[in-house]
Amino acid sequence: MTGSAGLPLEPGPDEMREMAETVTEALIAWIGGLSDAPAENTAGALDVAHRLAAAPPDAGSADVKALLDDALEAARHTFEYSGPGYLAYIPGGGLYTAALAEFLAQGLNRYVGLWQASPAVVQLEENVTRWLCDLFDFPVTSQGVLTSGGSMANLSAVVSARHAKLGEAFLDGTYYVTDQAHGSNTKAATIAGFGQGNVRLVPTDDELRMDPVELARMITEDRAAGRRPFLVIAAAGTTNTGAIDPLSAIAEVAEREALWFHIDAAYGGFFQLTGRGHEWFAGSERADSITLDPHKGLFLPYGTGGLIVRDREAMRDAHFEGAAYLQDLPPAGELPNYNELTPELSRDMRGLRVWWPLALHGVDAFRSALDEKLDLTTRVHEALSADPNVELGWDPQLTVVAFRMRGGDEQRSRELLARINASKRVFLSSTMIRGEYWLRVCIVSHRTHADRIDECAAIIRDAAAALAS
Ligand SMILES: *Cc1c(COP(=O)(O)O)cnc(C)c1O
Repeated sequence: MTGSAGLPLEPGPDEMREMAETVTEALIAWIGGLSDAPAENTAGALDVAHRLAAAPPDAGSADVKALLDDALEAARHTFEYSGPGYLAYIPGGGLYTAALAEFLAQGLNRYVGLWQASPAVVQLEENVTRWLCDLFDFPVTSQGVLTSGGSMANLSAVVSARHAKLGEAFLDGTYYVTDQAHGSNTKAATIAGFGQGNVRLVPTDDELRMDPVELARMITEDRAAGRRPFLVIAAAGTTNTGAIDPLSAIAEVAEREALWFHIDAAYGGFFQLTGRGHEWFAGSERADSITLDPHKGLFLPYGTGGLIVRDREAMRDAHFEGAAYLQDLPPAGELPNYNELTPELSRDMRGLRVWWPLALHGVDAFRSALDEKLDLTTRVHEALSADPNVELGWDPQLTVVAFRMRGGDEQRSRELLARINASKRVFLSSTMIRGEYWLRVCIVSHRTHADRIDECAAIIRDAAAALAS
């Protein structure tokens, strides 16, 4: 393939159009097939992987269609993450409009690490991060950043808290999470220079929520032992069951003890858009920082997380190092320099893929989709409550329903999961809670509606009945 100038890396207009059309047509057909696609299709996937293993050729094939076929073949042999039956882990979505915006963003290739290079492009990303801060009633001195995911956001929160509260000699610092917290919160300890010995597991109540009295007691105990408690991380939606820690009570303790209060709302955060979520998250406006994952609750394709921090300067102090080769560029002013606020310098122009769906569909479209997920959760919970062969764990707080075979026999519950997933219409995952095996239905995808949830309940009912007989 050569362009009008005869240069292979610079295709001409007709070639560009033809390539783009080949890809968009395939993608449209792909999305059209999602609801009938198997919810899980990994049998033989390693054979496909072996067939595709290759080194890049010295002379190109000039064959976009062949490369497209390979990519589609690879994508076909996976879990169907973007389909309506994907109810495992925390589902994402994969909005077409985000993909389109991303294609444009990559084609435009503007640099957004420092504002002066592309002020108005940075503004489009700021539209998103300001909206995130406003969503949680953070003050004007707050700042948001878009990260690659929730794990990176939690890491930056831990580093910001460490820097603000402990300074450079921090190894006597302790921070507090529950045993239900997402693994990225404890993983962050190691990456941020601590050991796992600096992380304290606060007990949870019967609903798997942090016990604030225990939290206060452990802080006092650590102080008496000469340690420096500096951070508490609450969950606004645990991955296991959607449990929401008592945010106001934890804010109370954090304020009294001068701890940084971080909320990991990677899964649950965008339910703040709904009336119910807004009530459940009361107290979140008192946090120092909140992790949010647009690639979960805003249905974006994987690769977009977010962090909002109440005190912009604290985030900057923890992440900024000057560099002589950047001396021509001015400091942050009306617009931020993202490189001063995150570990990244060069990065993709990721704001557009969030801004486009919000602006094109409107916030109400997201609000009602999230409300629908809450209703669907009640729907599947009610259906399973009526099933004599299954046992429910906890009342759902967001959009997770945990269940297992009645009586709690682990082996039979494992078989139940295998049978449900063998349907290929839905795909569920399991977890261990307090040492016991549970299956979960987690409803987040914008493509999941009542028909698939009813089908899911029927599949569970039939599989459980077959195992019980
Ligand atoms: C998914 C999740 C994370 C991690 O986010 P990634 O985007 O996968 O890195 C952190 N915390 C919670 C509660 C999550 O559900």
